[in-house]
Amino acid sequence: DGETVITADMVDSLIKRHAPMCMRNLHEQLEEKHHLRHYARLQYNLFLKELGLPIEEALIFWRRSFSGITDDKFNKEYRYNIRHGYGLEGRRLNYPAKSCARILTQDQPGPQDNHGCPFRHFSPQNLSSALSRHYSLSVNEQSEILSAVKQGHYHVGCTRLFELTHSKLGVKKGEGLGNGESVSHPNRYFERSWSKFRQ
Ligand code: SF4
Repeated sequence: DGETVITADMVDSLIKRHAPMCMRNLHEQLEEKHHLRHYARLQYNLFLKELGLPIEEALIFWRRSFSGITDDKFNKEYRYNIRHGYGLEGRRLNYPAKSCARILTQDQPGPQDNHGCPFRHFSPQNLSSALSRHYSLSVNEQSEILSAVKQGHYHVGCTRLFELTHSKLGVKKGEGLGNGESVSHPNRYFERSWSKFRQ
């Protein structure tokens, strides 16, 4: 239900269990490098905001994650940015989390970047190794995803991944997010996964 308060401590396990690959990738890059570049922070911050992570908890989460820098540097360079995403600075706009369409088409990632959609922006080799590493998908399971991606049907690949990783919870092939919808927004993916686990 919408009443659950999400805390900084919950982010890691929620992301690893329920987030789509784009956000899981950002989370893991952040864990590994203790840093994310601008567009990656933007994509992840707005996703976490829409998940229901309150600003106080978001600041705790990001401060902890950027563990290689001083409080002073964090406050000067990142705090404003995170609060800005929550509509608390500058023009105080309530920025929505990015949809798949926006992630797929806007602000294309360069080689140093981690934002974007893995189905579109990873090489086939990297995509395949991420699918094995994070989701233990067999070669057969992967080949369906990889062939959809090859035809440019990125959201089909992502939807199939949801079906495969939620099959134990009763989601069948062709059922999409369990309700016939295919993936069009990272937050909808997350919400459907979380609600399936809590049923
Ligand atoms: Fe994320 Fe959408 Fe790509 Fe899935 S299709 S990984 S939800 S951007």
